[in-house]
Amino acid sequence: MSSRARKKKQKHVVSAGSERVKKQIHPRVRYILILVCVAAVLVTSTPLLYKLFLNQSKPLSETNKNVMKKIPPDVKKAMSDNSLPASVLPSVRVPILLYHYIEYVQDKKDVTRQLLNINPNIFEQQVKTLVDAGYTFMTAQELGDILDGKGKLPQKPILLTFDDGHWDFATVVLPILKKYHVKATAYIISGFIGGADFMTSDQLKNVIASGLVEIGDHTVNHVSLKGKLYPIVQYEVDAGRILLEEQYHIHVVSFAYPGGSFDEQAIAVVKDDRFATAVSTIPGIIQSQQNRYFLFRIRPGYRMGSQLLTFLTQSAFNVY
Ligand SMILES: [Zn+2]
Repeated sequence: MSSRARKKKQKHVVSAGSERVKKQIHPRVRYILILVCVAAVLVTSTPLLYKLFLNQSKPLSETNKNVMKKIPPDVKKAMSDNSLPASVLPSVRVPILLYHYIEYVQDKKDVTRQLLNINPNIFEQQVKTLVDAGYTFMTAQELGDILDGKGKLPQKPILLTFDDGHWDFATVVLPILKKYHVKATAYIISGFIGGADFMTSDQLKNVIASGLVEIGDHTVNHVSLKGKLYPIVQYEVDAGRILLEEQYHIHVVSFAYPGGSFDEQAIAVVKDDRFATAVSTIPGIIQSQQNRYFLFRIRPGYRMGSQLLTFLTQSAFNVY
């Protein structure tokens, strides 16, 4: 074969090769581009789809059985990685009582409600027991200040906290708080205000006007934050706070995890959103800088009088 013919053949081979390469790569590139576009559309539209979908949902109930009762492993690991000497992490003994419904439950078949409920007369007796025993009722914000080293811890400190913002907070709890002039913290699901089982906007305004109740954020839709996509956690935490602040002209600095469910990401979001504290459903009574974003809480149940006071002096709270 002449050198001219060989060059022509080589040129032909190269040109055929590049055509093949073109044919092999182009569909892949197209495929990747399509994937990237679909992913981009999904990521940017997720919060919107999520909002549309979730605003139809009902709240989850935090029964004794399904709430988080232990510090999740990723949070434990982060705590040990960033461990500081105990001297810079002073701890305080402050019981934070956890309540949901305070009413006479009409529907005897509503087991969840029965489990989470405390009858109004019992609740009043509990408040009276604590007042008579000389307890000082603090808000979550005030506890946050103590953890920051601002101010002195009062004698026999205690917090009353109420999750979800059910209607009975306005009609049953508030009159009792006013009667004994004690403070409380109510964690509100902002997307459910005015819903069938919840306080109306006017009732919430009345609660705020009492000056006895700190309003905390309990997300927009009451979804478990553990293991959720970052934009969803961010939306639930941030939009919940903004809605309360803009609608009711208040400053919201306290947060409660729905179902007590959280992980390291949820803590980071709450921290980044400048909340001062967050409460969990992990039973306990010792609060510190280390657990300020998962403060421990206890359920008083139906204990009253000396039984309640003894309960508060326990050191271990494995059960409610
Ligand atoms: Zn809740």
